[in-house]
Amino acid sequence: QKGQIRVQTENIFPIIKKFLYSDHEIFLRELVSNAVDASQKLKTLSSIGEAKGELGELRIDVVLDAKEKTLSIIDRGVGMTGEEVDKYINQVAFSGAEEFMQKYKDANIIGHFGLGFYSAFMVSDKVEIFSKSHKEGSGVYWSCDGSPEFELYEVDYNQRGTKIVLHINEESKEFLEAGRIRGILERFCKFLPIPIYFSEAGETKKEDEVEQSINNTDPIWIKKPSDLSKEDYEKFYKELYPYNETPLFWIHLNVDYPFNLTGVLYFPKIKQSYEIQKDKIQLYSNQVFVTDEVKDIVPEFLMLLQGVIDSPDIPLNVSRSYLQGDPNVKKINAHITKKVADKLDEIFRTERNALEEKWESLGLFVKYGMMTDDKFLEKANKFLVMEDTDGKFHTLEEYKTATETLQKNKDGKQVILYTTNPVQQDAYIQAAKEKGFTIIKMETLVDAAFINTMEMKWDNVSFVRVDADIVDNLIDKQESNEMVLSKEEEEQLKNLFTLDISDLHVTTEIKGLSTGAAPVVATRPEFMRRMKDMGAVGGGM
Ligand code: ADP
Ligand code: MG
Repeated sequence: QKGQIRVQTENIFPIIKKFLYSDHEIFLRELVSNAVDASQKLKTLSSIGEAKGELGELRIDVVLDAKEKTLSIIDRGVGMTGEEVDKYINQVAFSGAEEFMQKYKDANIIGHFGLGFYSAFMVSDKVEIFSKSHKEGSGVYWSCDGSPEFELYEVDYNQRGTKIVLHINEESKEFLEAGRIRGILERFCKFLPIPIYFSEAGETKKEDEVEQSINNTDPIWIKKPSDLSKEDYEKFYKELYPYNETPLFWIHLNVDYPFNLTGVLYFPKIKQSYEIQKDKIQLYSNQVFVTDEVKDIVPEFLMLLQGVIDSPDIPLNVSRSYLQGDPNVKKINAHITKKVADKLDEIFRTERNALEEKWESLGLFVKYGMMTDDKFLEKANKFLVMEDTDGKFHTLEEYKTATETLQKNKDGKQVILYTTNPVQQDAYIQAAKEKGFTIIKMETLVDAAFINTMEMKWDNVSFVRVDADIVDNLIDKQESNEMVLSKEEEEQLKNLFTLDISDLHVTTEIKGLSTGAAPVVATRPEFMRRMKDMGAVGGGM
């Protein structure tokens, strides 16, 4: 037998109400985005001469009446006829938005699934709709108390557009607080394309008071990069993160194939890898805020970036576990990585000085990226720079060329000499420099992990700390005198270093030591020291 699955409305309705969204506050996002859609539809229709009447001022009002326990969302969009209410509202999971998009190829529409409206019941005992279509005909009224029964009849409502009235239920009293509503609007609706105004019923406006909309309807990420100045980008950054310092660089993302993605990503100023990044990248879908938990969309190392990503291809109403498996999300991830790498490469080629000046912050991204993403590594190999103890920057290639003959170990590997503490290790640094070696500064937590990873990823490169015993061999084995210790001295040293003496090599002198500051220099095998450093780093990465 073949047949069609039937749904019992009485049973499915409570489930929709309860489990549609885990966050109840989402209802407001859904209703406001419906109001935006209705306004955008009217614009589209008007532009092709299919709208009836004047366009007028398109605006959305959210009005709270705490006394009456209602919250209303009023738009001046297309409105609905009685037939349309029956088609779009009474049919759960039928999306008028989707239908409109198909018909008019209008990419600015937010709705998709035909479920958003019903989120109103998560917080309401009763929902009413007043609507008047831009087409001829009278106004209509619809209401429903959350049971599968509704009322629908003609009514005297003469303003084109739709008013949704929510009778907020007892458990949802929080949504009768002005601060709460304003907060939600500012979070989710901050960059929607139709101006949104919030007011409280009975509020009297002062005479010279200018109405202030909640949103910036014209955020920079939807504009053409060629129309934007440095100031525009910096101003927008301040709008997102008012308390932060000016960012270092930004990338304007603009893709329309094979998926749609716009956005602006900023490289913020950061000094320490472990600084907690509270200002995160914000994810939007058609200018509606979705989340700032972008872990699955943005590669881990780029979580240090800030800014906005907007993609209508990232579904609005989905859970995070869904996002992880979404094929678009994977592509977006790869694309962002590529864009970031390309931008850094461009900065390197066209304004290397700026890159070097800002390397303290940028180096962090780059190193994280190289360790965790092989595609990024491939590109970053060209623009990674390493600062030596004289403040000069070298790419890997440059370093190799400069040290080609001098710094090879017995396996023929290129040795990158580095210091983790230029002050403490100064004696070694001076000695090594006199031998003509170039010593790279590797002072941060990231560097310790970076060295370990790159030794595996880079062929024929070996990192050696400037005070490791190997340096000694590299410098000149014959010239360094191995010191013979008495039992007593051995004991003292053991206590001093809390090390097994067999791990310890002691030389009386490093040739070419510039001052007599370090008459005895103890060194440990490189790997021992590194193990210990890694232990100290622990889970800090
Ligand atoms: P979606 O937005 O995903 O299509 P919704 O459940 O949010 O689904 O809304 C269902 C449909 O109801 C919309 O597609 C639209 O046709 C209609 N609708 C909802 N709100 C409004 C409104 N404010 N003005 C006009 N039509 C609306
Ligand atoms: Mg909707």
